[in-house]
Amino acid sequence: MTTRSEQLFAEAKQYLPGGVNSPVRAFGSIGDIPRFIKKADAAFLWDEDGNRYIDYVGSWGPMLLGHNHPDILKSVVEACGRGLSYGAATAAEVEVAKLICEMVPSVEMVRMVNSGTEAVMSAVRTARGYTRRDKIIKFEGCYHGHSDGLLAKAGSGVLTNGIPDSAGVPKGCTQDTLLAPYNDLDSVRAYFEHAGDQIAAVLVEPVAANMGVVLPKPGFLEGLRSLCTQYGALLIFDEVITGFRLGVGGAQEAFGVTADLSAFGKVIGAGMPVGAYGGKRCIMEMVAPLGAVYQAGTLSGNPVAMAAGAAMLRLLKQNPHIYKTLNKNGNYFFEGLAKIVQRAGLPYQVNHIGSLGCLFFTDSKPTDYESARASDTKAYGAYCRYMLNHGIYLAPAQFEAVFLSAAHTKELLDETLETAEGYFAFAYCS
Ligand SMILES: *Cc1c(COP(=O)(O)O)cnc(C)c1O
Repeated sequence: MTTRSEQLFAEAKQYLPGGVNSPVRAFGSIGDIPRFIKKADAAFLWDEDGNRYIDYVGSWGPMLLGHNHPDILKSVVEACGRGLSYGAATAAEVEVAKLICEMVPSVEMVRMVNSGTEAVMSAVRTARGYTRRDKIIKFEGCYHGHSDGLLAKAGSGVLTNGIPDSAGVPKGCTQDTLLAPYNDLDSVRAYFEHAGDQIAAVLVEPVAANMGVVLPKPGFLEGLRSLCTQYGALLIFDEVITGFRLGVGGAQEAFGVTADLSAFGKVIGAGMPVGAYGGKRCIMEMVAPLGAVYQAGTLSGNPVAMAAGAAMLRLLKQNPHIYKTLNKNGNYFFEGLAKIVQRAGLPYQVNHIGSLGCLFFTDSKPTDYESARASDTKAYGAYCRYMLNHGIYLAPAQFEAVFLSAAHTKELLDETLETAEGYFAFAYCS
């Protein structure tokens, strides 16, 4: 008997490339097919066949407070009643901008856009305009959205599919993108020593979360900061995942390193399509209409999206204990997972920080793209399929993060750990 998801996927493939609107959703890398999702609430997803899952994807990060948070829902529904878009200035976008500036100390001015891709792309353009330099340094395995210049060793979907670079990107678009291994300060220093006066910016995921989760080594972010300062380049933090997840001040607060420009997305939209980039006033004054760096958007600062974002940021600002609990639960969960694989006699590695983490099927701790890629993706696929069939919805690809939300209670985390324990105890006993 075919399931409703199977039927829908067959139909979807007729009309959508690969049956999906974003590659990782196809479940190809775990040898399965997508579960078509009908609804979500708190920490749960339900598919079209009526199966319930504990959701560890959280729409890839935005659902920090779980699905259907009543305050966010109320704010969005009210905004919908006032019209969906005006293409004009609104009070709501001022509120969101002000909240971001208040919550992230390095951000004095911000521009709202519609996705993380747009946010990073525009931040890079701004850095180039400000410094009047062309080259940027990015790290292997870091993903910064799908703009042409940044699709070089870009992690996640690209990494999983084994496409080193995307077809359709002219060489000219990536010729000014310099690649360095993550956590390798010496490579970055060498680039600066060789071409310091041509480098506009260093772009980094302060915690890499698109090659699985890879943490910055102590001194790495600090080292990038001082090299940028020394050579007059800008440090751009891509906080699309870490922003408002690791804490109110994102990775900058967690690691005590200040970026010149930051890109946000995911959490700031609470599930609506939102991105933002911002930083020092003198840099952001380069952006049109004040300055010569052009950037625009028909739906940027959309009132419904801003209603969601404002409600999310207000909640986070007023309830800092959310992070305390979330980060404590994150430690409990990921350390629990690490103990389970240890007890099963497996050498696998868990990397984590706060509510963000990942289980690698490899015996040495991944610290960069090369070591992350050593993970046994077939073993991940088998684990992921088992969890899925037992009501646990994990990212259908090794090189993605596990996202916890405030709706993941200790009971749900325990249920998940028990399921994982069952898998490792039995699947590996022969
Ligand atoms: C998701 C992501 C992006 C791209 O955001 P979209 O909203 O998917 O365009 C950029 N950078 C990082 C670090 C991300 O995780």
